[in-house]
This record gives sequence, C-alpha cells and structure tokens, in this order.
Amino acid sequence: MKKVVIIGGGVSGMAIAYALTRQGMTESDVAVFEKASRPGGNVQTDLVDGYTIEQGPNGFLDNVPATLSLVNDLGIDHVLPSNRNAARRFIWRDGKLREIKANPVAFLSSGVLPLSGALRVAMEPFQKRGRDDAESVFDFAARRIGKSAAEYLVAAMVQGAFAGDARRIELKSAFPKMYAMEKQDGALVKAMMAKSRKKKQGGGPAGPGGKRTSFDEGMHTLPAALASKLGDIIKLNAGVSSLAWVGDRFVVTLENGDFAEAASVVMANPAWSAATQLDGLNAQLAHELGAITYPPVLVVATGFNTGDLAEAPNGFGFLVPRHQGVRALGCLWSSSVWKYRAPEGRTLFRTMLGGSVDPDAAQLSDDEAIATVLDDLKKTMGVTAVPELTRVYRYKRAIAQYEVGHSARVRRIEELFSTVPGLYLSGSSYGGISVNHCIEEAPGVAAAILRFLRE
Ligand SMILES: Cc1cc2nc3c(=O)[nH]c(=O)nc-3n(C[C@H](O)[C@H](O)[C@H](O)COP(=O)(O)OP(=O)(O)OC[C@H]3O[C@@H](n4cnc5c(N)ncnc54)[C@H](O)[C@@H]3O)c2cc1C
Repeated sequence: MKKVVIIGGGVSGMAIAYALTRQGMTESDVAVFEKASRPGGNVQTDLVDGYTIEQGPNGFLDNVPATLSLVNDLGIDHVLPSNRNAARRFIWRDGKLREIKANPVAFLSSGVLPLSGALRVAMEPFQKRGRDDAESVFDFAARRIGKSAAEYLVAAMVQGAFAGDARRIELKSAFPKMYAMEKQDGALVKAMMAKSRKKKQGGGPAGPGGKRTSFDEGMHTLPAALASKLGDIIKLNAGVSSLAWVGDRFVVTLENGDFAEAASVVMANPAWSAATQLDGLNAQLAHELGAITYPPVLVVATGFNTGDLAEAPNGFGFLVPRHQGVRALGCLWSSSVWKYRAPEGRTLFRTMLGGSVDPDAAQLSDDEAIATVLDDLKKTMGVTAVPELTRVYRYKRAIAQYEVGHSARVRRIEELFSTVPGLYLSGSSYGGISVNHCIEEAPGVAAAILRFLRE
C-alpha cells in the first residue's frame, strides 16, 4: 500500500509529490497517476521549426518566492525574464489598437476609453465601499471606475486571464487582493499608494507587481524538471476512474482496470474530473465539484517572416473587448515578449479564441480557426502576409471559472473534504488559477498529509 496517491500530474500534483520527496518519501511511498502520456497538464511547449510555442501558460510572475525557490531547487538555470517592451499593452477599441498608458494625461488622450469614461476613472477614490460579498468583477469595476472602464479594460482583462466573462466571475475569488484593498482602504488608488509607500520603506512589493518570467526553452522546462526528479513516482497513461474508501484505506481504480491502495489521496486533477471519481464516495461533494465550469479555448499560433509584416510588433500584445468587430479574445506577441520564441527574422503570435464569452468557437475546424485569426490580425495589425507556421491547440475545458458564489462553494467543498480523513484537494480549480498559486499551495498540502500520516 502507498502512503500517498496523487491524482493528476500537472504542476500542482508534481509540486506536491516533489515536496513529499523532500521530506524523505520515495517511490515506495508515493505515486502520481497522470492520465496523459506526458506530464505537466496545461503547461506544454511545442518546439516546431525553430519556434517555441506555448500551448498553455506563457509565463509566471517572479514575485512569488515559492516558485523561484522551486526553480532554484530543481537546478533550472536558464530562467528567461520578459523583454522590457513587454510592459506595453494594447486594447482594440473603436477600430484602433490603443496603448494603455500609466501616465494619467497620456491615458486620457490614448482613446483606450471615451473621454467621459477616462474622467470617471479619476473619480475612483470618491466611490462608496461595496457591501456585496459575492459581487462580480464587472459590477465591482463599474461601481468603482465606471461602466466604460469595466467594459473596455476590466472585462477584456478577465478574458485574457480567465478566458472568462467579467459579469460572471466573482471578484473575491478571482482577484482577492483587489477585494481586500477595497475592504481595508476603501479606495483602490489609496490602497495602491499605501502599498507603494510601504515598498519604498522596504516593506514588500506594491500591488501584484512582479516581472513576467519563463525559461529559454519554454514553460515546459518546469514540469520536465519536476518529472525528471520524480522519476518512477509518476505513472503516465494512468487515468483514474474511481475512488473508494474500504474501512482503513482508499482504493484508487485506474481506467485500465488496475488498482492501488493508499492511506491518503490528493486530488490534483481539475474539479470536473475529480467529480467523476468521487461520485461513488460522496455524491454531494461530486455535485459541488461538478458545478465548477470550464469554457473551451482555442490557442492559435501563427508564425511569419517579419519582413512580410507592415510593422514588427513591439509590446506584450492586445486584448479585445466584445462588440468591437474582432472575434479573438486577445493576441500575445510572443516573439516580442520573449527571446527565443521565433527564429531570427521571424515573428510568432499566439491568439486566443473562445472562452465563456464565445464558447461556440470550439466548433470551428482548424482551418476555420486559422482563417478567423488571420482575419483578426489583418483588421487589428494590418497583417496580410501568409504565415509560414500555423498550429491550433484545443482545450475542451480550459480554465476553471470562479463564478459568483465560488468562494462559498469552495468553503462547502473544503468542509465536505474534511469529513473524509486522508483525502486532500489541490490545483487551479479552487483558490487561484496561476502556476504560481499551484506551486505556492504544494508545501502546505504536503505538510498536512505528513501530519495526517503521523497521527
Ligand atoms: C490557454 C491557457 C493559458 C494559460 N496561461 C497562463 C499564464 O500565462 N500564467 C499562469 O500562471 N497560468 C496560466 N494558465 C493557467 C495554468 O496553466 C493552470 O492553472 C495550471 O497549469 C494548472 O495546473 P494544475 O496542475 O492545477 O492542473 P492541470 O494542468 O489541469 O493538471 C491536471 C492534470 O490532471 C490530469 N488528469 C485529469 N483527469 C485525470 C484522471 N482521471 N486521472 C489522472 N489524471 C487526470 C490531467 O491530464 C492533467 O495533467 C493558463 C491556462 C490555459 C489553459
């Protein structure tokens, strides 16, 4: 019998397994069952003809010590900070790409917002504190900085981060720091100034901050390094079909009919998947997990000879608010953000389609998705060249949507989990969708398991 079985070999599951090995566990104590033929879950990099294409995350912010310390521990020495110009971000509005400027005067004239909308943002410090604990991101933004900024800036940002719909995503779950700022300081501007003062006095980073970071050979470097340290602990092509409790142990049954026994189990697979395995063990828990939704996303990579473009991209990329005549959610100018993402003289774009605001995009064939993206690149950036590389990556269920009511649901899930001793939950479906969050959470889960096993 294993001491621990971990279901799911994404970053979450592997980081927990790694933390357990740091506490002396070996292959005889712990196993990670991963359904796919390669580890890493959403974190996958495709190397094609000199291009380095991220299928999922393109990077992480370097302001979370747990990630940096894991990277260091794993001996990854080719960490790649984003280029300086990655700070330049654009919004497509009213037929033009408009740069989001930090300087208030430049912001007013940028056209990112209509003038009345930009002036309304300046009224933020004078707005009343909210009372609704389960407020949507859109409602929060509309209340504090006005409807126009909520629509053109914040909703577009939620599309970029969650492939989500700001009108359905819960502020408290998705942007807890923002929620806390209003609770503590009453106004966001005031809170940011207070943080900035604290930072100047040496009291930690201001706001979310951090520099977007990756690795020379792409994000898959991280799961590949974890997998190499874990060795035979990871079992690939090992999808779990069900979980049962038989008096003093868990029985984990695999899709191929094999089974394993364990004193404790961590469900580090997405909630929709965990729901199916838990159906026989605790139907209420399965129901709560199954209620967390995940929209489909298509990631379309296009590679061009830079000389064929009217202008080489210079910045991070752009986001597209709805009803602006462009179907894409946004476009990342990968080779402008990072070194080594395209061969010399070539440009790589990564465009996202679908999400909660456009789930029908999942029905597009590859050819249709590429044609849609090329049409969008033509409208927004005047790209008329034929790409030398195209790839479409499909996520049937991409990113967990922390919809209004999510924080209350997660509380219920945690209570239900605590009634099954030895059963743990981790991953991006609950308390944070970023790679950083998954890594940050891992040592705590490992420590809880070790406490349970000792007791
Ligand atoms: C398109 C896209 C872009 C993103 N961009 C960013 C970004 O720029 N920065 C960032 O920080 N985050 C980003 N994210 C989010 C980030 O990738 C994820 O939150 C993170 O990788 C989740 O890791 P995880 O291990 O919790 O889950 P997953 O990566 O989903 O891993 C779960 C694993 O469980 C396995 N599994 C499922 N069912 C079973 C089963 N029955 N038995 C066994 N195994 C099973 C799956 O195969 C998978 O490998 C992005 C996500 C997507 C989809």
